[in-house]
Amino acid sequence: MAVLRVRGFGLPEGEPVDLYADGDRWTSDPVAGAELVAEGWILPGLVDAHTHPGAETPGQPLDDGILREDLRAHLESGVTLIRAPGLAGDPPDWFGRADESPRAFHAGPWLAQHGQFMEGWGRRPKPADLPAVAAEQAARTGWAKVVIDWQLGDDVMPVEVLREAVTRVHAVGGRLAVHSQHAAGGVVAVEAGVDSVEHGMGLDPELLSRMAAQGTALTPTLSVITASLAKINADPERARKSWYVPGASAHARLTAAAVEAGVTVLAGTDSRPHGGIAHEIRALVAAGVSPHQAIAAASWTARSYLGLPGLVDGAPADAAVFDGDPRTDLGQLDKPRAVIVRGKRVHRRVGSQ
Ligand SMILES: [Zn+2]
Repeated sequence: MAVLRVRGFGLPEGEPVDLYADGDRWTSDPVAGAELVAEGWILPGLVDAHTHPGAETPGQPLDDGILREDLRAHLESGVTLIRAPGLAGDPPDWFGRADESPRAFHAGPWLAQHGQFMEGWGRRPKPADLPAVAAEQAARTGWAKVVIDWQLGDDVMPVEVLREAVTRVHAVGGRLAVHSQHAAGGVVAVEAGVDSVEHGMGLDPELLSRMAAQGTALTPTLSVITASLAKINADPERARKSWYVPGASAHARLTAAAVEAGVTVLAGTDSRPHGGIAHEIRALVAAGVSPHQAIAAASWTARSYLGLPGLVDGAPADAAVFDGDPRTDLGQLDKPRAVIVRGKRVHRRVGSQ
């Protein structure tokens, strides 16, 4: 098989790049007989930092066929790397490795409190056991995910339990992500020093500077929250009674403020249908985030946060190539010309060479 080559302007700098995939590593040393896959504007691929592939509806078990379908949708949208903060089960061996999968980090099944979260999904250890269970998971896969709040009025996980979980997870070299969708959950998450707050709805903007200082990332899943809000608001009676509305209504503002405050913001699409990372980038831009920073959240910044370098010599050989600069034309994001993962072409736009 020929060595693949990409040439054009690499983001974030927009400088000329000319890279060859030496197996799963980029090199700028020319390789004779390499196949020029595409020329254009090149990203190290898009990153979906919050996605749960492999189950059709909440509560269903992980399904191999659906998992393949979901991952294919990610690849076709230019996503070369995902983080799954919670899965319907332990994924098969090929997940994150085979040609039909983007690279992947995952936290195994969600950890939640009794009586909270989606029925049929996740594990619910006793509070006293949660730190050890989280550490065990993180030791296996690098991440653990804890649902620390759920419906309005549900108990938020005690800060001592969560702090102990963070300590234990860090001690095994892992990281901890938490689901939070209430102000009180946000306080506990930031106080406990978790690595990433997922959703963060209702989070007090006063906490953003502390998050930036201590390196707590935020994955706002803005497009999915905005879509749910629109659905609820379509029924005024329901909207009047819904606890969801105030937090969701403030979420775009909160997200823009987080970027402004220097918090590491990660793009994530959360639910099906998969492959919607371009929608999340558009939602970030609509919230007032610059296109450069919105794409950063869905590409090089997220990649670096997850420990992978961008388009440099020696980096893992991933790329998504676009005809034009997606920062000045977000529409480019809908039609990657070519997508390369681990030095192999995994997607080619219909009609392109
Ligand atoms: Zn989620």
